[in-house]
Amino acid sequence: MKFGGTSLGKPHRMQEVANLITRDEEHKIVVLSALSGTTNALVEISESLASTDRSLAKQQIEALHTHYQNFVLELLSEEGSRKKATEILAEHFEFLTIILKISFSQALNRDILAQGELLSTKLFSIYLEELKVGHILLPALDFMTIDSNDEPQVGTIKVKLAQLLNKNKGTIIFITQGYISRNAKGEVDNLKRGGSDYSASLIAAAINATVCEIWTDIDGMHNNDPRVVEKTKAIEQLSFEEAAELAYFGAKILHPASIWPAQFFNVPVRLLNTLQPEAKGTLITEKAGSVGVKAVAAKDGITAIKIKSSRMLLAYGFLRKVFEVFEKHRTSIDMITTSEVAVSITIDDDVHLPEILKELEAFGTVEIDTNHTIVSIVGNEIAMTKDVMKKIFDALEPIPVRMVSYGGSRHNVSLLIARADKEVTLKLLNKGLFNL
Ligand code: ASP
Ligand code: MG
Repeated sequence: MKFGGTSLGKPHRMQEVANLITRDEEHKIVVLSALSGTTNALVEISESLASTDRSLAKQQIEALHTHYQNFVLELLSEEGSRKKATEILAEHFEFLTIILKISFSQALNRDILAQGELLSTKLFSIYLEELKVGHILLPALDFMTIDSNDEPQVGTIKVKLAQLLNKNKGTIIFITQGYISRNAKGEVDNLKRGGSDYSASLIAAAINATVCEIWTDIDGMHNNDPRVVEKTKAIEQLSFEEAAELAYFGAKILHPASIWPAQFFNVPVRLLNTLQPEAKGTLITEKAGSVGVKAVAAKDGITAIKIKSSRMLLAYGFLRKVFEVFEKHRTSIDMITTSEVAVSITIDDDVHLPEILKELEAFGTVEIDTNHTIVSIVGNEIAMTKDVMKKIFDALEPIPVRMVSYGGSRHNVSLLIARADKEVTLKLLNKGLFNL
């Protein structure tokens, strides 16, 4: 069971999490994120330190400390547990204060970022003690490891976790930190922002769990973006493939990397809502459940690159040369479409764009369009479902579509549009595809 920051962000929400994990007697590992806002605050502290603005960093640390002191007073009611929690806070905030004197490094930055999950789990553990709920706190740094390419080492995680669980056989509830890990050098590291979902899915895969429950504050994955479109509904069931497409192309509810461990080890994932624990949420399994379009998701910040060359005509090896440029600059390609004399490619990370463009110019004329959005229409056997393409294009009649990708899988049709057209596009598709 993984609980995100907003489910822990207020003392009464953390108390609800305690209710949820004690509703039954099933053995479970509870994975916690940092309290909402904490990781962002730690990022800011780190940035102040990196820019050597120590007095600003000091102020930010003190503000966060005060926030936690108030949190503890509201969460806990017994003197003994309050004292314990205050000591934990003192320990972690003292660490942050000491680093004010150390010179900044990336390793230090990662140490700073780890404080959020360390704090949330320790405070939650003290709260459970106050409630007399038996449990064990498993330090994620003792089993969650990544290799030198930042890839989780599933085999090692499995072995280490099994050893830890074996040592505590009678225990029903284990608590651990999401997000944080140890890297190949043995230093504190993390699974990147939003990585607690990934931790949960890796843990579920490692112990061959019956289910991996991701608890947030929305009742599952929705058929469209609720921040843009008025009427959306939760999707009951998705296949791993569909969920991966949706998570990658914009559905914020689940970290995209968290699908593969569950899929590979075939652990069903359930997306559930702490505010409505009885709601069904979304079940993600091997099976799709039904045929047809299930959802629309959008991903912003996309850059399209068009390479036009008469040399592509009848040539072989052209695409390989183009792809090699992206590989060399470690930039992954999201969408691709081709014509006989041109190829268009999209990327979401333009850190290396200048170098990439320079090298591509050797192949022909290169044009770029920035600030675009990929709209992805996801479902099961879409290509075989009658009328889907007609409905999509009828709905999007007023929208200029820059690229279309269809047939790459049976689960997805992707469109590239200008960012400015996103809201209208999502609304038109909601009406055209779901009649909502
Ligand atoms: N606390 C981390 C973050 O805010 C990890 C997570 O919440 O999943 O990115
Ligand atoms: Mg999250």
